[in-house]
Order: sequence, then C-alpha cells, then structure tokens
Amino acid sequence: MSTDLFSLKGKQALVTGGGRGVGVMCAAALLDFGAEVAITSRRAKEETEFAALAERGPCHFIQTDLAATHGVAEVYEALRTRLGTLDILVNNAGVTWGAPLEEYPAEAWEKVLKLDVAVPFRMVQTLLPLLEAAGKHRAPSRVVNIGSVDGHAVGVFDNFAYAAGKAGLHQVTKVLAQRLGSRHITVNAIAPGPVMTKMTAALLEENGAAVVDANPLGRLVESSDIAGALIYLTSAAGAYVTGAVLPVDGGFSLGSWSSLRLT
Ligand code: NDP
Repeated sequence: MSTDLFSLKGKQALVTGGGRGVGVMCAAALLDFGAEVAITSRRAKEETEFAALAERGPCHFIQTDLAATHGVAEVYEALRTRLGTLDILVNNAGVTWGAPLEEYPAEAWEKVLKLDVAVPFRMVQTLLPLLEAAGKHRAPSRVVNIGSVDGHAVGVFDNFAYAAGKAGLHQVTKVLAQRLGSRHITVNAIAPGPVMTKMTAALLEENGAAVVDANPLGRLVESSDIAGALIYLTSAAGAYVTGAVLPVDGGFSLGSWSSLRLT
C-alpha cells in the first residue's frame, strides 16, 4: 500500500474565505500536504493572512465578494485562467447572525442563507467544468463544505438562520454527492464544534469556560483537528468517501451542546 495516502502533491485547491480563521487553517493544511492553493477574500491581500500562507507553498489570491452578483463567476474566471482545472474545492466562507428570538430580523435570513447555503451550491455548479476536468475514476475531485455542529445538533446560542443554513448545507452535501459521484467528484462536509475565530471570539470570551467544561473531550477545536479531517477527505485516503458529514466537535453533537449552561 502506498505510504503517500495523504499526499496532495500536484493537486490544485481553492478555499473560499481563506484569508482568516478556519479558512486559513484549511489553506495551510492543503499547502503543507503539497497542494497549490488559491484563496478568496473580500479584502485586499495585505489585509489577510495571505503572506504567511504564501511562505508555506504556492498560493494565489482572488479578491471577490461571493455574495455579490458576479462573485462566483469571477472566481471561475480567475481559476480557469490561472489554474485550468481544480482538484479540491473547500466551501469555507460563511457568516452567522445572533439575536434574541423576538428580535431576530428578516435580513439575517437573507444574508446567512445566501452565503452559507446558496453560495456553496453556486460554487459547485459554476466550477463543475474545472472539477470534472480534474476528476478520475479512482482519483475523484473533492468538494468539502464547512458545516457546523449547529447544523445537526440543537445548540443554545440564538443563531437561528445559521443553524438552518448549516443543516441545509449538510443536506445539499448529500444530494450533490449522490448526483456527482458518476462524474468523479466526491462531496463531503466537516461539521466543527466551536473554534476560536473572529466569528466566535465574543461568545467564547464570555462563555468559553462553560463550552470547554461541557465538551466530552474538554477543549475547543484546534487547527490540527480541522487539518486532519480535511486532508483525509481530500487525499487518496478519502477517495471512496462521499456524502459524509464528519463531526469534528469532541463529541458535542452527542448531547452536551444542547444542555450547555451559559454564564
Ligand atoms: P470568520 O468570521 O473568521 O471568517 C469568515 C470567513 O468568511 C472569512 O474568511 C470571510 O472572508 C468569509 N466571508 C464572509 N462573507 C463573505 C463574502 N460575502 N464573500 C466572500 N467571503 C466571505 O469565521 P470562521 O473562520 O470561524 O468561519 C469559517 C467557516 O467555519 C464558516 O463557514 C463557519 O460557519 C464555519 N464554522 C466556524 C465555527 C467556529 O466556531 N468558528 C464552528 C463551525 C463552523 P473575508 O472577510 O476575508 O472576505
């Protein structure tokens, strides 16, 4: 058996929202295992962690707003001209919105469902020619959607549209996996528990101790946890896995996520 089971040498990857947080963790892991990586961000290159990523390996930057009308098409055009094909698509860019039930605004639903469900679907739809050109029978192209524990376990934070969006993303993952297997593309999701990023910093500063205490494995998600799951799903090791939603949450989704006591 090849000991290169986890190598990504020669592979080309895209990470949406790869300029900070979980996206940086994903891009860094792909680079460390040998892939050439493009990241997207709405911000200028200098305002992201692009420079540190580029020190790890070949890295490209695409500045675009994926929620804007032409955002996804711009990514397709940039990848077509710079890479030609695409082996790995990581749909990481996402947004949350927290507010009490009685005050939860209609605009939260529009914003969150657009970026967390519609955009990942549009990315797969639009980048299909590039993914299909790279995929082979025993070496399929990969789509990995970054879902969440909130998409399959009921939590205590008031992020209603986010929970619905991530549940939707998990289901779209399975539907696309069923449709795209015969086109040599796998589609899976990673469902992390809480990671310390800009998205969660305020919540975790206030409730971090309670979150850690309630977790069966007693800690938050770390970058190596994200990397391990992502490299498994994108390398030869995961070539026969499709339609999976992989919890990377220390056991939170087994029950304690919903019984968490906030301070
Ligand atoms: P951050 O808020 O730090 O990052 C969000 C990312 O999404 C940024 O890279 C941002 O890019 C990108 N983004 C936001 N809006 C747009 C847009 N309109 N167009 C393009 N990109 C956009 O949060 P995280 O790193 O924590 O979140 C990354 C993913 O991980 C999300 O899908 C989130 O749901 C998921 N996740 C996070 C968890 C956590 O505890 N932190 C737990 C479970 C899942 P930029 O600002 O550069 O444009």
